[in-house]
Amino acid sequence: MEKFDIAIIGGGPAGIMAAIAASRTSRVILLEKNPSLGCKLLLTGGGRCNITNGKPIKQLLTFFNNKNFLKHSFYTFTNEDLLSLFDLDFISEEDDRIFPKSGKSSDILKGLNDLLEDVSICYNFEVKSISDDFVINDKLKADKIIIATGGVTYPKTGSGIYNYSLTSQPITDIRYGLSPLVTKKDLSDIAGVTIRDVVISYKKSKVRGDVLFSHVGLTGPGIINISNEISESISYNLLESQPDIDLEIAIDLCPELSRDDLKFKFTNDFQKKGKTRLKNYLKLFLTNSFTDFFLDEINLDGNLELSRVNKKSKNRLVENLKRFTFEITDFNSNLAKVTIGGIDLTHVNPRTMESTLTPGLYFAGEVLNLHGPTGGYNLKIAFSTGYLAGISASEK
Ligand SMILES: Cc1cc2nc3c(=O)[nH]c(=O)nc-3n(C[C@H](O)[C@H](O)[C@H](O)COP(=O)(O)OP(=O)(O)OC[C@H]3O[C@@H](n4cnc5c(N)ncnc54)[C@H](O)[C@@H]3O)c2cc1C
Repeated sequence: MEKFDIAIIGGGPAGIMAAIAASRTSRVILLEKNPSLGCKLLLTGGGRCNITNGKPIKQLLTFFNNKNFLKHSFYTFTNEDLLSLFDLDFISEEDDRIFPKSGKSSDILKGLNDLLEDVSICYNFEVKSISDDFVINDKLKADKIIIATGGVTYPKTGSGIYNYSLTSQPITDIRYGLSPLVTKKDLSDIAGVTIRDVVISYKKSKVRGDVLFSHVGLTGPGIINISNEISESISYNLLESQPDIDLEIAIDLCPELSRDDLKFKFTNDFQKKGKTRLKNYLKLFLTNSFTDFFLDEINLDGNLELSRVNKKSKNRLVENLKRFTFEITDFNSNLAKVTIGGIDLTHVNPRTMESTLTPGLYFAGEVLNLHGPTGGYNLKIAFSTGYLAGISASEK
């Protein structure tokens, strides 16, 4: 039987980073069930890899569900530490999202692969169980184990619900995160249209961002981010069942203007521009390709001249510009980007990532009950917790 200091299960960004850090001083084996590492990493950022978010750590931490748990890992392995590993240039885009300048996630994966030269890697190796003394199969044993098996979304990349059952560590409810939403209404007619910088609300939560219409419903950064609030507000656990959803979200299409501002503006403009057709006037507020759909939905004739829009219609216009609603019937779960929930953090030491129940057992990345919004936050979790687990496990 071959014995390693550390066996790492899962070759995504968290497992790879743990292997890079641990192999500096320890004999490490990385076990990956796919024929190659980082299948999900290649898909990130639409193939461009939004590798991290450039906000200062203190501010960055406020975006996560468990910021206190992440603090030590973020200060131990910073963005500067991460980016300096690559022989690549990086660019910072809107909202501090950092990408490789080449625009290729494959460059990030290649850079990481190059740093694994001291790591033994087994591909097509699915770990099915781990014994109490860290025997993985009749040929392989390790002193310590790092679990970096990821979450449940995008199963074709190696994710799956069964990855949580490798240890007896307690697990929280598991839910979809950063997911497009399915609407009751068929939106095929406006599929591909984007409405920019609107405010989406669900109950008391509000998120500002773009909304993109798809054949089955709503997506785009604003929707993806509010989906986390929705997912966390309903009671379900993917370990037991799929969610049962019937709820409403509202979109404020004119967030800069209050209802009173709009009423005042309409009263003035409708007098001054009486001959203008309603659909042409609404170009002031709405994307052209969305206007017809909007007017149809609220039963107003776009060819009506402004002088002929009565008070009741004007009020309906104002109300719907401020609160245009959609009934949501499901998550578009095939396209959910992250998992909400995972290994319960109560039993993991945030200074080492080691289990407080099983000495020598460590966790890193999305398998933990950690998630952030879209914008480089989730890879940040994977790389920082991966690094911390790697150096902690390799300390003799
Ligand atoms: C389409 C898409 C786009 C995304 N874009 C971004 C982005 O731009 N920026 C960002 O920050 N985040 C993004 N994310 C989220 C990000 O990809 C994940 O949070 C991140 O990959 C998690 O890393 P991980 O290493 O913990 O898990 P994973 O990347 O899921 O890796 C886990 C690995 O473990 C392997 N494995 C699982 N079980 C076993 C087993 N039993 N034995 C052996 N191997 C096993 C899997 O095959 C897999 O390779 C995106 C996600 C998706 C789906």
